[in-house]
Amino acid sequence: MNEAYEAVIGLEVHAQLLTKSKAYSNDINEYGARPNTNVSAITLGHPGTLPKMNKQTIDYAIRLGLAMNCKIAGHQHFARKNYFYPDLPKGYQITQDTTPICTNGWLDITLADGKKKIGITRIHMEEDAGKSIHDMDVYDTLVDLNRAGTPLLEIVTEPDLRSAEEAHAYLTEVRQLVRYLDICDGNMEEGSLRCDANISVRKKGAEAFGTKVEVKNMNSIRNVQRAIDFEIKRQIEALGKGEEIAQETRSFDAVNGTTISMRSKEAANDYRYFPEPDLPPIYVSEEQIAKVKSNMPVLPNELFLRYTEKYGLSAYDANILISSKAFANYYNAVVQHTSNYKAAANWMIGDVRSFLNQRGMEIEELSLAPQQIANLIAIIDEGKVATSIASQRLFPVMLERPNESPLALAEELNIIQDSNQDAIADYIEQIMANHPDEVNRYKSGEQQLIGFFMGQLMKASKGKLDPKTANQLLREKLS
Ligand code: ADP
Ligand code: MG
Repeated sequence: MNEAYEAVIGLEVHAQLLTKSKAYSNDINEYGARPNTNVSAITLGHPGTLPKMNKQTIDYAIRLGLAMNCKIAGHQHFARKNYFYPDLPKGYQITQDTTPICTNGWLDITLADGKKKIGITRIHMEEDAGKSIHDMDVYDTLVDLNRAGTPLLEIVTEPDLRSAEEAHAYLTEVRQLVRYLDICDGNMEEGSLRCDANISVRKKGAEAFGTKVEVKNMNSIRNVQRAIDFEIKRQIEALGKGEEIAQETRSFDAVNGTTISMRSKEAANDYRYFPEPDLPPIYVSEEQIAKVKSNMPVLPNELFLRYTEKYGLSAYDANILISSKAFANYYNAVVQHTSNYKAAANWMIGDVRSFLNQRGMEIEELSLAPQQIANLIAIIDEGKVATSIASQRLFPVMLERPNESPLALAEELNIIQDSNQDAIADYIEQIMANHPDEVNRYKSGEQQLIGFFMGQLMKASKGKLDPKTANQLLREKLS
């Protein structure tokens, strides 16, 4: 990026809510049903039908608003946003215009050089449109209205982001948050979480913002990042040539990594917002907010604190564990059965994670119960099996025979280590006899040779000695 300029970015994220029914009707809210099967007359906006507010939507909005440190509006109403589109059967969208349910919040994002607060301007409730399908029929565009009326939360940030990396960090945080909150599955590929990016550039040090361009149609966090990077470069080049930036909406082309103009400001819709006459205003009481608060699922930042402060894990380890809710839940279940938090984290982050990665599996698909990891840690801590041997030989067998006890499997594999002092002493004497030079060098001060002796010991015993006892005895015998 040209050093003379800086980018200014604000994001608008739409999150489809995991409610059972739609925002304003009893239609089932599900992804992937047979086209046009979950579409009632209310969703179609037929004359004489009346929408009815889904209370779950309001609770979910409050949940997200609280997690994003917002003020929750006590009194609010809906608005009609009028426009024509084939996938919008009513001819208008029921949304919130002047009275969003949540305002004035913030979200911390994690960057390479620390945390940054991103302002949340507003979160409002609205509904999704249907879906036009352009690539299924050679001649016609097909319309599936199942998605019409799906409850959405739109989350709008302040223009606080300054780079594609910051946008990436923000979206990662939002996706993680909605998943922890159980309000949205966060799947950008399927469109349950979508992002429009508003991007402008200005001379470094300038107060005023430049003209912004809105970019749509990115279906992954990676593509949002690519679109922003392209757009920053395009705008800086244009300004460099003395051109003006047109305020417009552009579409991201994932194949070429570019953005293409969709419509200019002049061609923008006039939505003719007016208060929705068919839905009564909504009152959110302090009691309702308190109730949502008391039912709030545990959030990633709470887990982070628990892991680092109570369990003594590093920030690095804690971040890996909380990166997915299911992964964190599994870890939480392991530490129900062991207080060796560090060992549990090591198994999760090391062996469990690499097994899942190799197989392309999710933690939910792991047939090994969390308690079995705790059982494994217990026999290691008792000195029965060495950690490295457990990792190389025992754990792979546990994955194949998840219901058998790790101890029984270790016995079967003949890897129970010898912590019998006499047996260890025999090995040590043998090795000292075989390496008189090293013994002399150790005695004359080359203490680092302890590693050499340990290596020889482990080799001679095929790794079956308890390293702690072996190390201790070795030092005694050598001095
Ligand atoms: P509009 O009226 O076009 O919807 P808003 O002021 O509501 O614009 O802002 C929409 C989004 O664009 C917000 O996320 C906001 O932070 C962001 N935004 C506003 N102005 C700029 C700008 N000059 N550059 C980048 N982003 C901006
Ligand atoms: Mg706006």
